[in-house]
Amino acid sequence: MTASTTEALRVTGVVLPESEHQDLYVADGRITTSGQPGATDVTAGLGPCWIVPGLVDAHCHVGLDAHGAVDEATQQEQALADRDAGALLLRDCGSPADTRWIDDRDDLPRIIRAGRHLARTRRYIRNYAHEVEPEDLPAYIAREARRSDGWVKFVGDWIERDAGDLTPSFPADAVKAAVEAAHAHGARVTSHVFGEAALPDLIAAGIDCIEHGTGLSAGLVEEMALKRVALVPTVTNLENFPTFAEQGESKFPAYATHMRALFARRYETIGAAYEAGVQIYAGTDAGGSLPHGLIAREVTGLVTYGLSTFDAVGAASWRAREWLGVDATLTEGARADFCVYDADPLVDPGVLAAPRRVVLRGRVVG
Ligand SMILES: [Zn+2]
Repeated sequence: MTASTTEALRVTGVVLPESEHQDLYVADGRITTSGQPGATDVTAGLGPCWIVPGLVDAHCHVGLDAHGAVDEATQQEQALADRDAGALLLRDCGSPADTRWIDDRDDLPRIIRAGRHLARTRRYIRNYAHEVEPEDLPAYIAREARRSDGWVKFVGDWIERDAGDLTPSFPADAVKAAVEAAHAHGARVTSHVFGEAALPDLIAAGIDCIEHGTGLSAGLVEEMALKRVALVPTVTNLENFPTFAEQGESKFPAYATHMRALFARRYETIGAAYEAGVQIYAGTDAGGSLPHGLIAREVTGLVTYGLSTFDAVGAASWRAREWLGVDATLTEGARADFCVYDADPLVDPGVLAAPRRVVLRGRVVG
């Protein structure tokens, strides 16, 4: 939906990522540096302001809760929680619900969907995925690629009952065919991976992104950096690994031990990926068991993993926007999606938790 004509706005402050003091204007939902007579001053009365391109949650699930698809009223609550936290662009990493109606609402965040999760039969959370066998994976990938917004997602590893532990969901030839099918349909492809064993085939096959990535090795992060495979570590959700271990303990003790080991070395694993130059983006994994609206917590979490504040804030703003192909910076003609803070997020990323103004499609929404 094209934004209808909106009143002109003015916003004054230090604009990230350049950290230059600027007067910006908003006209017809777009940024301009040309003065707009009669523009409403968004930052009036706020004191010094820092202006950040609209935040990005690069891994969340709108339309999903712990039990599967949710109704439209709940989808709206989820989208509003993200928006009010400043997350104005969402990469939806798999949802069984049809959330297309959100695209017709100017007051809700922009969503880039990865379709519905694809998983191996009876090897994922119930009600989430299309559950398929390896020979059917490429066809389902193609189908979700046609229905999504340029991304598809499949589950790379999960508990295998006989092994009693995480094992790759699909053999190497199915993974290769799946990645080829996605690319043939012009979609990028990503995969959920907790353990070590699934990763070499995925990265060799030319996957575009890894979600979680707690089983990465020194060799694989070098290969990811070289091939420009992105990583969305979902560090907020990694704090749930001990709970996942406990839940699996009685039936799958080897899995529980494995999850605790992945958890114990999480800082080392994700930190090594950052050191190797892997592009890391901020994703909260909201919508399964976690609530929406936690993007600030994810950014401060990434700093504890060794990211500089510039890279951690960029991972949830200009760098993620560039990666997803949506106006990275607030330059002439860019979509007017931005957040205003009363302190510098590059000094204290914690301020992201309290936006003073949120502007979406050229309108003040918070
Ligand atoms: Zn997820």
